[in-house]
Amino acid sequence: MGRVGIIRDERFLEHMPGPTHPEHPRRLKAVYEMVDREFKGRLKEILPRPATLGDVELVHSPDYIERFLKTPEQDFTMLSPDTPVSKNSYISAFLAAGAAIEAIKRVIGGMLNSCFALVRPPGHHALKDRAMGFCIFNNIAIGARFAQAKLGIRRILIIDWDVHFGNGISEEFYSDPSVFYLSTHRLELFPYSGRPEEMGKGDGLGFNLNIPLPPHMGTKDFVALYQNLLKELIPAFNPELTLIAAGFDVHSSDPLGRLSVEETAFYEITQSLRYLLKEEGSERIVLSLEGGYDPLGLALCVRETIRGLLEPLKGFEAFKTDLSQEILGDALNRLRALGVLG
Ligand SMILES: [Zn+2]
Repeated sequence: MGRVGIIRDERFLEHMPGPTHPEHPRRLKAVYEMVDREFKGRLKEILPRPATLGDVELVHSPDYIERFLKTPEQDFTMLSPDTPVSKNSYISAFLAAGAAIEAIKRVIGGMLNSCFALVRPPGHHALKDRAMGFCIFNNIAIGARFAQAKLGIRRILIIDWDVHFGNGISEEFYSDPSVFYLSTHRLELFPYSGRPEEMGKGDGLGFNLNIPLPPHMGTKDFVALYQNLLKELIPAFNPELTLIAAGFDVHSSDPLGRLSVEETAFYEITQSLRYLLKEEGSERIVLSLEGGYDPLGLALCVRETIRGLLEPLKGFEAFKTDLSQEILGDALNRLRALGVLG
């Protein structure tokens, strides 16, 4: 058995936001079918445990949790204007948060090098006291807070490569220098925030990096951007744990993302990330599924990410493109000005 795990559970399909809602159970079904087809017997498959109230309260307010816990009383509730929930959504939501925690425990415990929580609903827009953007609980933020509070982890890098800005994660750690939040996203898309000048505040200044992407971003530019950025960031920050808000709506097939990144980008980025982390000590990577709204394209991206985690490391050579250098130059200069890169 390899050192790569996934978390999967049919109960993630219980959350039904409606037949025309983009965050539909078909997304995850396509991913599970791909896993069975492509990786049978090669991954450690783990069942999640639901997060406890105490776990969820690491990030969310008791008032909000109480409001959500009333939703099983109705067939359907609009938890926020874009986040409808069904009677059994609470099962999926508590399991999705619990899955991030379980994945982190396995990786920190040394049983696995990496673990991908294949969950829904997604989490990166969820705020302390409300649901937002198809997200109920902030799975990654809860996992990070759990790692800090219960597992003694001090430095966490969160990479958010979903095409949308993960405003909920950013807000949670905005003043916290122990968590570096890196997001690449399109400013023209929901939630229409995440400007480059927002770099954290107080002790956390310099530990929030927002990189808006131009509309014509392609595969090579996207890979080059990540390779050259991580090459600087990982040795400087030296994370003990890397969490990935793994949304795949930058993919060319995505109806919401409208970029032209192909799935091979995720193989390249994942391999580069592992190489750079290994250079600093050890790979400890936990991913939690976020967006990606074309089921077939989503499954292809997850496949390439898992391949990147599973296959032996090839060497690392970051190539450059004009567009990636232009975007990256700005971002690195801002970090250097704040002394984060030394
Ligand atoms: Zn998204």
